[in-house]
Amino acid sequence: MKDTKLELINGNSYMYDANLAVGVYFNEDSRAAVLIDSGANESAAKRIEHFVKKKGYYISSVIVTHGHQAQVGGLPHLKKIYADLRVYATSWTAQFLEHRALESGLSGYIPCVANELDEGIVKDAVTDIIPYRDHDIVIDEVPFSVVALPGHFPGMVGIVTPDQVFYSADAIFGNTTLIKQKLLYYTDIKGAKDSLNKLTAHKYAAYVLSHGGKYNDVTLLIQQHQHLIDETAQFIFGIISEHPMTLEGIVQRVMKEYQLKNKSSHFTLANTIVRSYLNELHEDSKLRASVNDGILYYYDRASVILA
Ligand SMILES: [Zn+2]
Repeated sequence: MKDTKLELINGNSYMYDANLAVGVYFNEDSRAAVLIDSGANESAAKRIEHFVKKKGYYISSVIVTHGHQAQVGGLPHLKKIYADLRVYATSWTAQFLEHRALESGLSGYIPCVANELDEGIVKDAVTDIIPYRDHDIVIDEVPFSVVALPGHFPGMVGIVTPDQVFYSADAIFGNTTLIKQKLLYYTDIKGAKDSLNKLTAHKYAAYVLSHGGKYNDVTLLIQQHQHLIDETAQFIFGIISEHPMTLEGIVQRVMKEYQLKNKSSHFTLANTIVRSYLNELHEDSKLRASVNDGILYYYDRASVILA
């Protein structure tokens, strides 16, 4: 792990970013720190705790943005250290934490394909359920704005601190990710577009992306995301328009187009994303599905209906 320290973003809002950004808000009155996500694992959580302590603070709470391992992996360690730790999350996130197998449902429970699910997630980790809508919550007398950010993962939220720093979780990814990967992980395309619009609706002092760290302005990034989403939708619709395709056929073409490896984890990833786009194209009334000789095909709604 690179030698990362806490980085000041604005006012009392900081981040710890060792390839994965965790938000830290220091409450000067109570000397308590509120984390936004917990780090991917024990060692990340330990490092964050070390820096918080060094500043003369303790960790009172964690707001978990969503149920991916990268955001929740540090929780077991923090719960061990701080018995009274408050953990805030939406009921969606609480369910994903409690039942890790739920995550494979997003890719349709593919048999024999191992999910890289983790051990050591603490049961009953969430102490405070936050509603999945835009609203304010008060922690240690400090108000934080909760922003529902659909699209990437069910029940994901972003957090705005009183310093107007928007911790936007995985609603958008930083340049380094975009250079490496043009197929973005979304489970709900319409939701993802709504979240991008939300991020542009108001200008904040700074943004902290889980994968990407600090940005002062995200306008260009958002345009790139919108472009990549449209490109993927057009690619998938394009191949289906050529001739009816099975789900696996579409996944195969997408894996080739986006140069994914022949690994089950990449297959699962592509499978989840393709399903999201098929839903979106169906909702846009562009696609239909039909069973022919026991095989499910997707085809362009405007084309001739299969016999
Ligand atoms: Zn995520």
